[in-house]
Amino acid sequence: MFRTVLIANRGEIAIRIGRACRELGLATVAIYGEEERDAPHARYADAAFVIEAGEATRPYLNGPGLLAIARRAGAEAIHPGYGFLAENAEFARAVLDAGLIWIGPAPDAIAAMGDKIAARKLAGEAGVPLVPGTNAAVATPEEAAALGAGWGFPLALKAAGGGGGRGFRVARTAAEVPDAFAAAAGEGQRFFNNPTLYAEKYIEAPKHVEIQILADRHGGVIHLGERECSTQRRHQKLIEEAPSPAVDADLRARMGAAATALARAVSYEGAGTLEFLLDADKNFYFMEMNTRIQVEHTVTEEVTGIDLVKAQLRIAAGEPLPWRQEEIALRGHAIECRINAEDPARGFAPTPGTITEYKEPGGAGIRIDGAAERGFVISPSYDSMIAKLIARGSDRGEAIARMRRALGEYLIGGVASTIPFHQAVLAHPVFVEGRAATDWIERDGVGRDLPPAELPPAAEDTPAPQAREYTLEVNGKRFAVRLFADADPAASPPNGARPATSRQRATPKGGGKAAGGGDGALISPIQGTVLRVAVEEGAAVKAGALICVVEAMKMENEIAAPRDGTVRDLAVATGETIKIGAKIATIA
Ligand code: ADP
Ligand code: ADP
Ligand code: MG
Repeated sequence: MFRTVLIANRGEIAIRIGRACRELGLATVAIYGEEERDAPHARYADAAFVIEAGEATRPYLNGPGLLAIARRAGAEAIHPGYGFLAENAEFARAVLDAGLIWIGPAPDAIAAMGDKIAARKLAGEAGVPLVPGTNAAVATPEEAAALGAGWGFPLALKAAGGGGGRGFRVARTAAEVPDAFAAAAGEGQRFFNNPTLYAEKYIEAPKHVEIQILADRHGGVIHLGERECSTQRRHQKLIEEAPSPAVDADLRARMGAAATALARAVSYEGAGTLEFLLDADKNFYFMEMNTRIQVEHTVTEEVTGIDLVKAQLRIAAGEPLPWRQEEIALRGHAIECRINAEDPARGFAPTPGTITEYKEPGGAGIRIDGAAERGFVISPSYDSMIAKLIARGSDRGEAIARMRRALGEYLIGGVASTIPFHQAVLAHPVFVEGRAATDWIERDGVGRDLPPAELPPAAEDTPAPQAREYTLEVNGKRFAVRLFADADPAASPPNGARPATSRQRATPKGGGKAAGGGDGALISPIQGTVLRVAVEEGAAVKAGALICVVEAMKMENEIAAPRDGTVRDLAVATGETIKIGAKIATIA
């Protein structure tokens, strides 16, 4: 086996991979962007190298830089984790061309599955049922509208290169097609450098059920059962569990057979996931394949007892799978909650900032995959995940009870988190009864009535900590001491309490999209980059009309007018960065 692995990622997944390497006796090399020099993932590795962005938009996307570090550090293999370069076939090819081992499938398999149109074609040929849709690009909104008229609306418009919920729009009527088309193509271009769209029938209220597979170089392919990921916001997963309450042994065997057939068809190697939609009649339809480890791989590990990252490493070293399909058994139940720095009460707006208090839960059946700590900065440059909280139980009821208990123990201060949202979900009959479908959070408004998170002011506005000199007398002896205090006492309360609430952001209670002050001032609830300004100075707008789109943490946040009025003092322009609390315009 190789001896040194370069981990081309950051955050929790970099540590997760590092832990697997350590258990196998492998040395690890971390990379970090300059601002993450002291980040836990960089500290965890045996060696850590700074990486600059170079030609890329983020340091962690700098392929040539990574290869140079691998050479310098003597790494023999590269693990990409998820996101960043994990599904970049060119980078995988460059790794192989440099004589290194790529811990993942062959570049051809990544490329075949990375283009969702090509993937649909291959899946169809392998006999896997597909969501009704096109197996070719849809070139114009008119063409898309005609498809919708044929299949019946709603219509899903999806970027061929899309992922992470981006490049995906739904048109409920023909009239909504032009806007949905433009938005999906725009995101496809911006995030994936590919504006190509395809269309699918939008399945109403399906469940998201996916199959984990493992394949070795010797023709061995097995599946490890399913995960259900129906609790989503904006088509992004928030809670995942294994097994799915909707899947019985027969359905599992049929979905598993479809998944392994497609994996064989592309000579797949490594860990991969085939995502399906399951409709109310338990018909399943292939959606896409993720050719990497997934965020929610943990729940499968908890119920199968198989360490998926160690399996990836062993497969990449050329070992055959040590398990036959009949040996895979699911025991008990596991649930994962994504703990994100987002405010559920403000439409899940990301809240970058510094974590001022941090205490993780523990005890029986609880696992945390994280990379956060007190003082850790949730940067607007990366996605908003703080940690993954996983609860395992002998059955679903026990897993739910443990998760609720652990959520109550979890303490995170300084940034908003999805913890209150998860508490609401885990207490909700729709979730408890296993009835969740992908639209249920938005339809039932779960989390909407939570109070907005009360946060210390944005880091930029907080003066640096100040030292004070004191002289203390103890038992007749005098000591000179220097006390360091945060300039804002609200930022670090005593006794590990939640941050004090004396200072709030200039955002009102209520919807995450609109943020309006009493005097008609429209205030940005987030820090980010202005992607688009939808109005001009002097325009008349109705409440709810789009004013601008701000991108933060890889999400597009629509800022809408809080009331009817005229746009005055428009203070933003496309391409500018904007801070939390900054004034966007006055709607008067
Ligand atoms: P997975 O497919 O592993 O479940 P997701 O579908 O949630 O993961 O995310 C796919 C990719 O998008 C991941 O590689 C992840 O890095 C990235 N991602 C995760 N969360 C977000 C987010 N809130 N916004 C944008 N991208 C995200
Ligand atoms: P991504 O690459 O962003 O993960 P997917 O194609 O996997 O995109 O879809 C993500 C989510 O979007 C699904 O879990 C589901 O909620 C929704 N979705 C995608 N396609 C459809 C469809 N045709 N009908 C209904 N929902 C869909
Ligand atoms: Mg997906």
